Amino acid sequence: MNEVLNAFTVDLEDWYQGLEIGPEQWSGFASRLRVGSERLLRLLDAASARATFFVLGYAAEQDPDLIREIRARGHEIGTHGYAHRLVYRLDPEEFKRDIERSLDILTGLVDTPIHTHRAPFFSITRQSEWAFDILAECGLRSDSSVFPVRNYRYGIADAPRWRYQVRPQLAEFPLATYRLGRRNIPVGGGAYFRIFPYTLTRYALRAINAEGGGAVFYIHPWELDPDHPRLDLPRRIGLTHYWNLAATERRLERLLGDFRFVPLGCLMQQEDRTH
Ligand SMILES: [Zn+2]
Repeated sequence: MNEVLNAFTVDLEDWYQGLEIGPEQWSGFASRLRVGSERLLRLLDAASARATFFVLGYAAEQDPDLIREIRARGHEIGTHGYAHRLVYRLDPEEFKRDIERSLDILTGLVDTPIHTHRAPFFSITRQSEWAFDILAECGLRSDSSVFPVRNYRYGIADAPRWRYQVRPQLAEFPLATYRLGRRNIPVGGGAYFRIFPYTLTRYALRAINAEGGGAVFYIHPWELDPDHPRLDLPRRIGLTHYWNLAATERRLERLLGDFRFVPLGCLMQQEDRTH
């Protein structure tokens, strides 16, 4: 196994919360949060790996015991905001209220302060960089919302590919990308992990580790739950959401065997010590 440390991160939300369906409609959908979460926790335990769970405040309100259990099993809890809205569609005040609401809920559930954040849909882009000021004001020390790629919904294509300081007290951990010519290819998890063959993900992550850095990998619980309901969605969203879900669990097992994973907070501490 490669000895470079990578960050394993989970965006903890239910299957319908990442579909750009407004929170006012969420109560109409059946919750399956536990199905994928429990599979994920079992895989992590079996590999003796720990992760950062970026928990959506709304999901924590629905199932507080699940969040306590995740923490009790040794994982780091971060915030994914409260209502899963695109940051660049909010104004700074709305974003701040959303973050504070999630932090209130999460700090009431776990014994440790919340230090890390990931924006819904990686939606800190050039037009919403003001969000970094608010995250720093809220006492967060790290963020993992920047995807250094071009995507219709997110991305800062020319952002650094490695950890960088976005504010004096706030470090950014961009999602893993593989450099091909002058382009960054997203290889950090989610739909990319399900669409590309596993051997390609492994090749790319090994290349990233050989460049000397840890990769930030992400997954959602619903990606381990191929039986969750199928909605009729806009083609681009529907295709990537449901693509190859049945392969996720088996692939994750291989990934956890091939690479060393720690929570983001551990990766940050380790890098602080060596730099
Ligand atoms: Zn999300």
